[in-house]
Amino acid sequence: MRNNIVHPGADQLTYEIRGIVKDAHHLASLGVDIIWENIGDPIAKGVEVPEWIKDIVKNVVSDNSAYGYSPTAGVTDAREAIVQMRAAEGRTLSSDDILFFNGLGDAISIVYSYLNQNSKVIGPNPAYPTHSSAEAAHSDSPHVSYELDPYKNWLPSIDDLRNKVKYNPAISAILIINPDNPTGMVYPRVILEQIVSIAREYDLFIISDEIYANITYGNEPFVSIYDLIGDDVPTLVMRGLSKEIPWPGARCGWIEFHNRTSDSVFDRYVTSLFDAKMLQVCATTLPQRVLPKLFSDPRYTAHLQEKSALYKKRADEAYKVLRSIPGIIAPKPEGAFYYSVIFEDGVLNNNQTLAIETKEVQEFIQKTVQEFSPDKRLVYYLMASTGICVVPLSGFNSQLHGFRFTLLEPDDQTFTNLLSKLKESMEYYISR
Ligand code: PLP
Repeated sequence: MRNNIVHPGADQLTYEIRGIVKDAHHLASLGVDIIWENIGDPIAKGVEVPEWIKDIVKNVVSDNSAYGYSPTAGVTDAREAIVQMRAAEGRTLSSDDILFFNGLGDAISIVYSYLNQNSKVIGPNPAYPTHSSAEAAHSDSPHVSYELDPYKNWLPSIDDLRNKVKYNPAISAILIINPDNPTGMVYPRVILEQIVSIAREYDLFIISDEIYANITYGNEPFVSIYDLIGDDVPTLVMRGLSKEIPWPGARCGWIEFHNRTSDSVFDRYVTSLFDAKMLQVCATTLPQRVLPKLFSDPRYTAHLQEKSALYKKRADEAYKVLRSIPGIIAPKPEGAFYYSVIFEDGVLNNNQTLAIETKEVQEFIQKTVQEFSPDKRLVYYLMASTGICVVPLSGFNSQLHGFRFTLLEPDDQTFTNLLSKLKESMEYYISR
């Protein structure tokens, strides 16, 4: 190349959740029956979208106008439906402060791309890679994070957050993922209050990714950051359709901006996000046309409750099985549909293995895992031995050794079998 065309942050773009797929496919070609536990796509796990929701989509598809572009900020009725929903929750939001995207993946990419390169956003660790990689790439520097403590039910360490904010003047925003991916932790109100107070003290804005807001099932009630920011802390709340309908293939998410005019720099930044979307014309029209019909349907609340009840059942069952494995810390998730477990220090080493049926698979694994972190090594042995494909926690920017699987399996017996295979394999692996 005549010039170096590679973006300085290119090396920061990693996504282990999908990165493992190539090797999983290779194992499948060698005869391993893969059980996909790596990705948070309910549809891929066989979850059926209810017929009444499909009927709404079919009706919208029959309407010719659903094939056109929509206004840059989003379909007017969709934004109005969100305003009304927030009003019913007792929250005030103007439709001018809503911006639609092609899924939150798109929103996240734009939010970090248009942030001044010298501004950093601190986020939770383990870190959801779409945020942490995009943030690191935009600033061409490693993502700075605050710890979620597995020994305290994944609660955020406020001391760690405060210290890092204090000593990193480039930090301009705090990211919250509530409920969290990959831990399933739901931020308690008192923790959120402390985060808001740090943001206020250091003049930061808040990014609150609430894509799982309607999927909670534990003791900790979900509190939207909106309820705590007063009228002075600039905040951006992310919501979407991918997880709750579920309809990840719709690529539909949006940002709700709060306290936009409380800070002129924040206001200018938000305008740049609207302008960036304008260059792309608009987000996909179809799901936005479906949204008002869905949210106003009396069956929607029951649909969400039913989903959460199933994830609760899965989390309870998994907790019972996992907590009995020595050397494993497995805090029970209270929201979203993931379960993250970690291994106590010293439990994993580089000599442990699992039985692998064929010689070809065995050779591939032995060759592949040579340079791997201990948790990634375990994950590859697990996949080769049982077909279960999970994500190592090191793929979430974490120093902890562990892995994440999902609570998405729709069939009770299949989930029970998955858990007993996991338990049996973990016990064998760590006893070596
Ligand atoms: N934010 C979080 C916390 C997620 O877990 C995901 C997807 O798994 C996304 C955003 C991206 O969602 P979307 O399908 O809207 O791009």
